[in-house]
Amino acid sequence: MRTCFMCKDTIDNTVSNSRLREIKKAAKDFPGSKKEEMNQIKVLTLKFANKKICEYCYLKEMAFLTTVMRIKAMKDKEASS
Ligand SMILES: [Zn+2]
Repeated sequence: MRTCFMCKDTIDNTVSNSRLREIKKAAKDFPGSKKEEMNQIKVLTLKFANKKICEYCYLKEMAFLTTVMRIKAMKDKEASS
């Protein structure tokens, strides 16, 4: 049994291998963005695809990172207007 690196819960195998392959492929296709969050999302996605973290932690972290990105984008917009 694998345990999640983040919450120490056991990782269930509800995610199909074909979906993991898709996720991994999507992570590799990420543009080489300079954005710190983009890189973190890529790393996070690979961790999930390699079953280092559970789906719950993956989705939780993903939601956090996308929120941070959205807030930063909003601030950039404010600063430029
Ligand atoms: Zn977890």
